Amino acid sequence: MPTISGKCLCGNISYRADTEIKMMANCHCVDCRTATGAVFGTLLFIAEDDLEISGTPRVFKHTSDSGSAMEKHFCPDCGTQLFGKNSNRPGVYSVRAGHVVQTDLIQPGVNVYMSSKIPSTPVDPELKGFDKMPG
Ligand SMILES: [Zn+2]
Ligand SMILES: [Zn+2]
Repeated sequence: MPTISGKCLCGNISYRADTEIKMMANCHCVDCRTATGAVFGTLLFIAEDDLEISGTPRVFKHTSDSGSAMEKHFCPDCGTQLFGKNSNRPGVYSVRAGHVVQTDLIQPGVNVYMSSKIPSTPVDPELKGFDKMPG
């Protein structure tokens, strides 16, 4: 199983997981764009049980456009967005790809929320695109 690891900008929170990456997506939703400040977010989805976290992220809770309860876990000191949870996917954490050290593993398979993509954002035409989140 591949290992992923990373840390926030200030280094107070780090993580590691020996895990099977369930799915990897570029998410163009407004919530990801707003929370990260980037024009899209790339997320790795892994089993919650595989994730070992050192340090204590702060949790922001909100409701997605489809009504599910969402959590954004971030470093209270430097603000780095680290993980997410979605009530529709129990037992699954999303990890923001930008701080994953094993960059060779970052191979998104899909683009989601293409309906809210910023027009100038380039996308790989080889990847499947979905208007919303599939499944
Ligand atoms: Zn930090
Ligand atoms: Zn999103």
